[in-house]
Amino acid sequence: MNARVAVIGGGWAGMAAALTLALAGRQVTIYESARQWGGRARALTLDTPEGPLTLDNGQHILIGAYSDCLALMRGVGVPVDQALARLPMTLRYADGTGLAFPDWAPPFDALAGILGAHGWSWREKQALLARAARWRLQGFRCDDAASVADLCASLPQKLMDEFIAPLCVSALNTPPEISSGAVFLRVLRDALFSGRGGSHFLLPTCDLGQLFPQAAADWLQARGHALRLGARVEALQAEGHAWRVDGERFDAVLLATPSSEAARLAGQTDSLRAWSGSAAALTHTAIATVYARTALPEQRLPAALPLMALRPAAGAPAQFVFDRGHLGGPAGLMAFVVSASVASRADTQAQVLAQAARELGWHGMQPLTTVIDKRATFACTPGLQRPGQALAPGLWACGDYVDGPYPATLEGAVRSGMAAARALESAGQSRAAR
Ligand SMILES: Cc1cc2nc3c(=O)[nH]c(=O)nc-3n(C[C@H](O)[C@H](O)[C@H](O)COP(=O)(O)OP(=O)(O)OC[C@H]3O[C@@H](n4cnc5c(N)ncnc54)[C@H](O)[C@@H]3O)c2cc1C
Repeated sequence: MNARVAVIGGGWAGMAAALTLALAGRQVTIYESARQWGGRARALTLDTPEGPLTLDNGQHILIGAYSDCLALMRGVGVPVDQALARLPMTLRYADGTGLAFPDWAPPFDALAGILGAHGWSWREKQALLARAARWRLQGFRCDDAASVADLCASLPQKLMDEFIAPLCVSALNTPPEISSGAVFLRVLRDALFSGRGGSHFLLPTCDLGQLFPQAAADWLQARGHALRLGARVEALQAEGHAWRVDGERFDAVLLATPSSEAARLAGQTDSLRAWSGSAAALTHTAIATVYARTALPEQRLPAALPLMALRPAAGAPAQFVFDRGHLGGPAGLMAFVVSASVASRADTQAQVLAQAARELGWHGMQPLTTVIDKRATFACTPGLQRPGQALAPGLWACGDYVDGPYPATLEGAVRSGMAAARALESAGQSRAAR
């Protein structure tokens, strides 16, 4: 059946859904309100005195366990091994403390990384290994109501500060006290036990558009699907089992917008008010990326270690710095990441530059731009009920916020897009069989 399907939203979830539908033989039309593909994980061009500089809406990191992202990238022809720099998991600080896994098979990589961590006492290492062993014995499951802080109760404070909190805030974008323990354990399980390389960090060496969404758009366009940029959908109406998108009729529709827009569009249908209410009720946390140039050639991270953990504290908000000079960007370009960001743009920038001077000795940095995405991720709190993917016959939702095992991540978005497309597909087949 070559039914027409509309995908509303051209972020990573929408693109994953569109590819899955296209491969199943559907004719796809994608509506994207912005002038470029990628949503929250998109390229950003900055005018500088030296000419245009391509950055990202925010510094992103993937891990080796993001198997669906990697498979889709390969499927649309992205040379994954060049587009992503791969390094074994590392949480090294500027003073040389912290841990770095060797490139070994699991669980020996984690075991050796923890035992070899610099700056942790034997008692701290033992405590972390014992807790990890307990999580494994419990199948990386816990009570839905447990927070990450609950899971880690009685772990030494140093481990909380230097291991759990940085991992938690980078995976869930919320501090351990308000982060879902169940979701954290799921990410940990996939990173540590999905196979060799699952815990590797994958750092983009091209912009986020090229990494997947633009490549997916090119692939779809070449196969005759309809791609509409700068096309914000205003109205969605049911017509029997079909749907009208701004008046145009489709056999099925997939909402792949952020939760607030999906709530607005679904809320136009009386029977979808409950779903719309649950999507609108999600709360969000911000991420800031401060892009700045170092003043001196020696102010660099080592090429083999292009990211470094920082020590956030009052007035020093960044958790990580990435040396984009080793990741396809100009020499000396740094991206500082502030997860769970709360301060204003000006304060964030000033505080991060002061933190870089104090912690890394990088005085005289030149700020380029600070990007703050206030609705970067939904707050993945303990026991959170997320909206489901099936709304009504012929109407589905996907996106990082839709019910699923992952927090707001690229892999969560992509898996949700693929799952909704497959569900739409099998619902269509069973309807056709009746
Ligand atoms: C600064 C930042 C840093 C992050 N870091 C990481 C990271 O390191 N690792 C990681 O895995 N994840 C990270 N994330 C999270 C990740 O980017 C998101 O989870 C993912 O991009 C969400 O994809 P999505 O397709 O679900 O939603 P979106 O990207 O929000 O896509 C939705 C699309 O719908 C479009 N749209 C909205 N309304 C309409 C309408 N009415 N009509 C048509 N189109 C519409 C939007 O323009 C958008 O393009 C980060 C996010 C941010 C913001």
